Amino acid sequence: MRKVKVGVLGATGMVGQRFMQLLAGHPWFEVTELAASERSAGKPYEEAVGDRWKIGGEIPDFARGKIVKECKPGLDCDLVFSALDSSVAGLIEEELAMAGYPVCSNSRNHRMDPDVPLLVPEINHDHLEAIKGQKLGDGFIVTNPNCSTIGLVIPLKPLLDSFGLKRVFVTTMQALSGAGFKGFDLDIQDNVLPYIGGEEEKMEMEPLKILGRFEKGRFLDAGLGISAQCNRVNVQNGHLETVNVELGSKAGLDDVISSLKGFNPLEGFGLPSAPNPPIIVKEEDDRPQPKYDRDAGEGISELARGMAVTVGRVRECRILDYKFVLLSHNTIRGAAGASILNAELMLKKGMI
Ligand code: NAP
Repeated sequence: MRKVKVGVLGATGMVGQRFMQLLAGHPWFEVTELAASERSAGKPYEEAVGDRWKIGGEIPDFARGKIVKECKPGLDCDLVFSALDSSVAGLIEEELAMAGYPVCSNSRNHRMDPDVPLLVPEINHDHLEAIKGQKLGDGFIVTNPNCSTIGLVIPLKPLLDSFGLKRVFVTTMQALSGAGFKGFDLDIQDNVLPYIGGEEEKMEMEPLKILGRFEKGRFLDAGLGISAQCNRVNVQNGHLETVNVELGSKAGLDDVISSLKGFNPLEGFGLPSAPNPPIIVKEEDDRPQPKYDRDAGEGISELARGMAVTVGRVRECRILDYKFVLLSHNTIRGAAGASILNAELMLKKGMI
């Protein structure tokens, strides 16, 4: 099979760097174009990144000498992944879709548009139908959720399907890399920052679309209430979240745990980045922890590493029904890996 040629917009940033790492040697995709701002355009990737390579390991060989381009039509690729700063992502992504490119975006700009799927392959691939309503020429835009939202919706999905869900309270402890390059300037030593601009709103709204239905050409929100509190903590990668849920019907603790453990809707799809299973339930009292659990995930390839959500401390709640802790890797499952999994699914479905 000829590999699909892909471009990465925002290739120099935190999420862009993760794309480089995950796409190096991808069995289905070959990176033919790298693009970023005017500051980086015209330079070899290694020079454009300079001392900003922050994700560990080395810059992959294929990327080092590649000349970074501007984010404009004319890129030699069949698909673009967007890891652009949200201040510019909206218009650039539209322009590229209008020029005929499928765009897989990490940015918030189009997530809640009425004709744009907010895709999580384990949850809502029927939402891809919404693309038919897009008026973007021959191209289209598909988005993946905010990095905290995705960790939350994956365990919520089996609970919703098995027992129904009424209310969810979630408190996050989010890693520095979730703030992109800005994360390195935060006053975070000996500190916790109890505010992340726009994050609580995203966590309260995005799951309703993801867990809802797409029917007769429109999205119908899932009928549950979510209240979120978001904090930045001094961890490099991996968002930890504590969650309390009120179910729609009574369920025993064993049933709740079985429903989380038994969730595996992509089994047999053969997608290289799909974790099998997508939820790992830990028994230890003191897990998950970012340092030890953020790279969790196994599948048919190494690309599934960091793609699973780890859940622990599942127990009864005195006020609502159950509570638990979850952890997901914010730049893998929460960003680049999610986008790549979306593209793998779309390729499998013949959309690319
Ligand atoms: P980042 O580290 O700040 O990187 C931003 C990227 O956008 C850089 O490649 C930068 O290129 C490029 N850029 C900035 N201004 C531009 C312009 N005017 N034209 C073209 N390119 C421009 O941000 P990030 O954390 O990687 O996040 C990227 C996107 O993903 C954001 O929309 C963010 O909200 C979203 N996201 C991030 C995470 C996460 O965990 N970090 C998770 C989910 C979603 P230069 O290097 O040339 O300036």
